[in-house]
Parts: sequence; structure tokens; C-alpha cells
Amino acid sequence: MAKNNKKYIFITGGVVSSLGKGLASASIAALLERRGIKVNLLKMDPYINVDPGTMSPTQHGEVFVTDDGAETDLDLGHYERFTSLTLTKTSNFTTGRVYLQVIENEREGKYLGKTVQVVPHITDEIKRRIHLATQEADLLLGEIGGTVGDIESLPFLEAIRQFAGDVGKENVLFIHLVLIPYISAAGELKSKPAQHSVKELREIGLYPDIILCRSDREIDKSILEKISLFCNVSKHNVFHSIDVDTIYKVPLEFHKQGFDEKITELLGMWTGRPSIQDLEKVVYNYENPLRKIRIGIVGKYTELIESYKSLDEAMRHAAIANQVKLQNIYIDAEDLENKDEVEKILSNVHGILVPGGFGQRGTEGKILAVKYARENKIPFFGICLGMQLAMIEFARNIAGIKDANSEEFTQDGSLIVHYMKGQSKDGVKGGTMRLGAYNCHLVDGTNVKRIYGDANISERHRHRLEVNNDYLNKLKEAGIVVSGINKDLNLVEVIELPDHPHFIGCQYHPEFKSKPFCPHPLFYSFIKSADQLAVSKENEERL
Ligand code: GLN
Repeated sequence: MAKNNKKYIFITGGVVSSLGKGLASASIAALLERRGIKVNLLKMDPYINVDPGTMSPTQHGEVFVTDDGAETDLDLGHYERFTSLTLTKTSNFTTGRVYLQVIENEREGKYLGKTVQVVPHITDEIKRRIHLATQEADLLLGEIGGTVGDIESLPFLEAIRQFAGDVGKENVLFIHLVLIPYISAAGELKSKPAQHSVKELREIGLYPDIILCRSDREIDKSILEKISLFCNVSKHNVFHSIDVDTIYKVPLEFHKQGFDEKITELLGMWTGRPSIQDLEKVVYNYENPLRKIRIGIVGKYTELIESYKSLDEAMRHAAIANQVKLQNIYIDAEDLENKDEVEKILSNVHGILVPGGFGQRGTEGKILAVKYARENKIPFFGICLGMQLAMIEFARNIAGIKDANSEEFTQDGSLIVHYMKGQSKDGVKGGTMRLGAYNCHLVDGTNVKRIYGDANISERHRHRLEVNNDYLNKLKEAGIVVSGINKDLNLVEVIELPDHPHFIGCQYHPEFKSKPFCPHPLFYSFIKSADQLAVSKENEERL
């Protein structure tokens, strides 16, 4: 019996991992939302960590933070960027979270002495969380992490199989994303791995309604027909997702094939055609840049773009909106510690960004990058750790506090950045940070207030340390402007330098709230200033 008339789409992946299931889910949601359907998104992760907050970014990519302070999988970043959604703690859960809950229930005696088992207790908890994640939406898109065949994903697959029975199969669509690899020795694309993956799904009672074929090149109609035949899916329900040069094209490519229309047809949801002009405009600007600008990103995990996913995206959104082509130059902060290198490495960029980070390694190099940006009037943007280091650089070199430092790195010297009560580094890892959205008041007459066009903003945080108010007067007297404050906690949120084309640092992570069709104002203004520098350099060269 159908419990309600909400609709559900479950997306699984086969053959290999990293096929872009998150992006496919986000793209489908983007199209359905533009058809007027109230959607919500859920990521189910089969790993055993309770949340990704304690996982190394080098292992798992960025930790995405929601307004309500959940540390989540980076796919939630794709979901938010492609839709109008503000996701919450219920939008991502892991096997670890599910087991933790079931074990707590058991300890509290909630199972009345029964033997606690994967079926039904674990699967019931998964199903409960799927309902919870749906919230007010008419349609939930639930993505299952990992690959079909992984030992960890079995309870999730079993849970969605049962779920379809609970709510009525007519309300549920199973979409399976598979890789169609090109085998160069044979000179052709191969459908066999996809067939095997579907076979594996069918063995556990899941019959995909739609197959989405990922490939690095055009897929011949005959291959799609073969997949349809062998996987027992109508040929009208086999779609493709060919590699594109920008992820912003993915929803448009899906729409061209009638993918969103097919979904609404199969679910019996009748809607008008989606309005996709905003997506088309993004792609147009991306393909028609007026200039090229180079931004130096000075960090520790330099080679790992995935760990700065939202940052990278936010920069791209701003570049698209400014109609410039962005070249991000990832600079290893330790290379800058050799002072002679600073000029060589940084003289060539139009903007310098020091992103968030943890730990001391590379910080002196980052401080030299801040100094270079300040002295040479290169647009600068410091985020979280980047802002703290900008404050330290200013304290040391302008405010005369020569031993300025952060309590994250040392106990000695003038700790102008320090731990707040309850946020000591001795705390249990995970759960000791200022996390999620906090209000911030922007001060009249500052650049930042002009950039936001608003006095009251809300931004997301993920950090333990704060600017130490004991030093604030001295720093302000020396010329730093505190342009954003958290009035409730009396904390510095944004700083800027007045006699500089663009020198801004913020304690929060604005990158989490940028969208391709709605770039974040701080990134927009940073890239705009960098573009202005590029234009003036171009003019200089011409003279
Ligand atoms: N390590 C710094 C802190 O904990 C900055 C964190 C960050 O950049 N996200 O406050």
C-alpha cells in the first residue's frame, strides 16, 4: 500500500567508482526543479565512518558543511550548487551513522529483547532516514555511494528494494549509472561490464528502470540497443552521459535527450517544460571568455583539487559571471618559504588566494604570500586559515607585534589567533569546531558591505580558532578594518585593508554558498579585481 504519493528516485552506480553519480543526481534534480517539482536530495554513504568530518581530505576530498553544521560528503556540494536547496543534517548518512543509531537503540532496550539483525533493523533504520530526508519535498533523489557489488552497499540496496514495496513501485524509479569503457585493442566500446553490473542488481531483486551510460566518447546506437536488450530495459530508457568539457553542460545534455521528460513520464508527474535559460547562460559565458586571468592558490594540499572542490567551483562561478577564463595556479606554500622564490612564483598572477586549512606546515610561506599581495597591491582573498594568517602578517609587519602567531601552531608569542573556550585542540576530534551558519553584521562604509549590498549576512563556518579580541584595538589602530562581526559572540568575521584594490579575509567559508548561476559576491568581486589587474597589465604591455 502506498503510504503517500511522494515519488522517489534511487541512483546506483556500477562497474567502477567515480563515475560522477553525484553530478548526475544533481543534474537530474536541477532539471526536475526547473519543471516546478519540489525535490530533495539524499546521499547514502556505505562506509563506516559516522561522518566524513574526521576523514582526511586526501582520502575523501572536501568536507562539505551545511547551514545546520553537518560535515558531509562533497556530493552535497554538487546538489546545492545545481539546485535551490539548502541541505541539512538529514541529507547525508553513512553506514556508521545507521549502526550507531541501531546500537544505541539496542542499548536503550528499544528492540524488546529481539535479536538485532541487518534485516530488518539496519534496513528499517535506513528506510526511516530516507523518509526523514524527503521532508516537505514531492520527490526525493537518493544516491547510493560506492559501486554495486561492494560488500558495504548491500544493506542499502536491500533497503531501497524494500522501500519500493512499502511506498508502491509506481512511486519509485531505479536509475543505474554504468561505465561503457573503450577498449583500444578492440577499437570499440564494451557493454559487457554494464550487463554484469545490472545482473548483480537483479540478483538482489533490484530491476533498474533507467540505465545511464557514461562514456568518454559517442556511444553507437547499436550498443545502447544491446544494453537495452541484455539488461531488460526499454531502449527509450537508456540514456548516455558522454564526457563534457564543463560540468555545467551535464543537465543540458540530459535535457537534450529527453531524460527529465522520461523521468516525469515514468513517475506519472505531469509538468511543463523546464526553463533552463540560466544554465544556458552559464555555458555561453564559459565558452566565450573575454580575457584570461591567473589566480595563485597558496595551500598545502595543492595537488589535490578535490579537497578544495567548493572553492574551485566558487572561483569558476565568479569567472563565468565576469566572463573571464580562469587559470587556477596551485602553489605549494612550502615553496614560498624560500624568500627568493616568492617574487618568481607570484609576480605572474592577477590574484592571490589563501584558502582554509589546518596545521602549521606551509603557514610561513602563506604569510609571505599575504605580504606579497599586500605590498604589491595584488587582489587578495583569505579564507578561514587564510584570514587568520592575513591578520598575523599584518600584526607582525605593520602593527609592530613581531611575535604574532596562532595558538594552533605555538604557545609562545602574541597569540592574536587563539582557541575559544570549548574549542581547544585537546577536545575529541570531530565535534569541537564552530560549524555551520552564523549571522554576521557588516559595518557601514566598508568594501565588504558594498560588495554584499546588505548589512546582515549568514555564512558557514568550520574552524576552531578565532581572532583574539585582546589585540584588536592595536591592530585597528595600525589600519586593519574589521568589516564584519558576529554580534552575539563578539567575534571578528571579516577584515579588509582600505588602501588596497582588494584585500579581504573572512573567517567563514563563502565557497559553500556559491552557485554557477548565482556566484558568491566575495568571489565575484575578487575575480573582478583580478580581471581589472589583468586589463591594466595588458594596457601596460601595449604602451
Ligand atoms: N585551522 C584553523 C582553525 O581551526 C582554520 C580552519 C579552516 O581554515 N577551516 O580555526
